[in-house]
Amino acid sequence: MKVYKFGGASVQNEKNVRAILKVLNQTGYKSTIIVVSAMGKTTNALEDVIQAYFQNNDTYKILIDRIEEGHLEIVKKLFSNYTEVYNDIKNIFKNLRSLLINNTSDNFNFLYDQTVSFGEIISSRILSSFLNYSGITNTWIDSRNYLKTDNNYREGTIDWERTQKQFENFDTSQTYVSQGFIASNSDNFTVTLGREGSDYSAAIIAYCLHAEGVTIWKDVPGIMTGDPDYYENAQLLKSLSYEEAMDMSFFGASILHPKTIFPLYKGEIPLNIRSFLELENHGTYITKGVKGDPSVSCFIRKLNVHLLTISSIYFTYNLEDTLCILFKQLTELNIKTNMIKVSACSVSLVIEDKFNSINILLNILANSFNVTLEENVRLFTITNSSQKIRNNFKKGKTVLLEQLVKQTYQAIVKE
Ligand code: ASP
Ligand code: MG
Repeated sequence: MKVYKFGGASVQNEKNVRAILKVLNQTGYKSTIIVVSAMGKTTNALEDVIQAYFQNNDTYKILIDRIEEGHLEIVKKLFSNYTEVYNDIKNIFKNLRSLLINNTSDNFNFLYDQTVSFGEIISSRILSSFLNYSGITNTWIDSRNYLKTDNNYREGTIDWERTQKQFENFDTSQTYVSQGFIASNSDNFTVTLGREGSDYSAAIIAYCLHAEGVTIWKDVPGIMTGDPDYYENAQLLKSLSYEEAMDMSFFGASILHPKTIFPLYKGEIPLNIRSFLELENHGTYITKGVKGDPSVSCFIRKLNVHLLTISSIYFTYNLEDTLCILFKQLTELNIKTNMIKVSACSVSLVIEDKFNSINILLNILANSFNVTLEENVRLFTITNSSQKIRNNFKKGKTVLLEQLVKQTYQAIVKE
């Protein structure tokens, strides 16, 4: 069995949906699970819906109408006789509206997941119908019946035992269309896996089904040595080891969701990241026993992170306790750490605050430490760096903090 993942860009318009058809016809689609994201920027648009809804703002209804119109527009272009699919999609939007009208919960994260998940349901319905209509017989499946999580809405943690159980007796000989990003908890409420989590879904499914490989189809050629919008000399990496890919996504390379690699590494499942628009090119391979090729420096930028420094004269006496207190709070508040540097009297951390809980953290820490926060800084990571590359990089920048571990250089720079 193989797993194909198509991201938001690959289903954002009629042309790209048709390109998927070409991919499948050319590469084969027997024993394949196709995992799809929401179309284009639909998840952002659904986030706006939920924001407006919680501000008691009736414009949320207009926002839903707009999302619906966009999807129906694509349906009309894809099918010459579109009535059935059109009605199916209209029905799904009806369910979304009644979910919000009848909702009594004031739990933002809970309702966020119940709402934004519609993006993936809708895109997968459209893709599945379109493929069936075009001769690629497939079955639409709801990934929430397979991927099981805890109750951590907006960043669910996979319950591996239950998830693997759901895949027992799965008929791997067929073609399926399913969704990335969405899963469910033991009460069968939708739980999402974190923004851009569809890559991770593909890896989870592949692991559970012992898939022979995962392909992530993108509108870019593969993993580059840097974001081509920022680094003019960015080149395509033909291959990477699991470890290198894990580092790159962890440090902020947005091409891959950071959790994706681990299940693939564990299951020794090869990953190929390539363009659905240029089928003659093979993109980047990540698999056991390979190394980065070409072996050059990679430049990774992570934006909108914060530099937190806590200090106290007593640190040297009880550093371990301090780190324990600190990391317990970070875990409880769901704040992610991207870099850490410890000195005699202070600890500096680069953190990511997806859930807006930084003020709670600051209040708690202020009871025991001196705390400073530099908001919205950038974290740069350069792998395989040389002295020359580091010096060049630093020219004209205000570097707040830097660290070199082996050849990997990291710098915090003011926006
Ligand atoms: N649609 C979700 C998002 O935009 C998941 C994904 O694209 O991977 O975050
Ligand atoms: Mg996406």
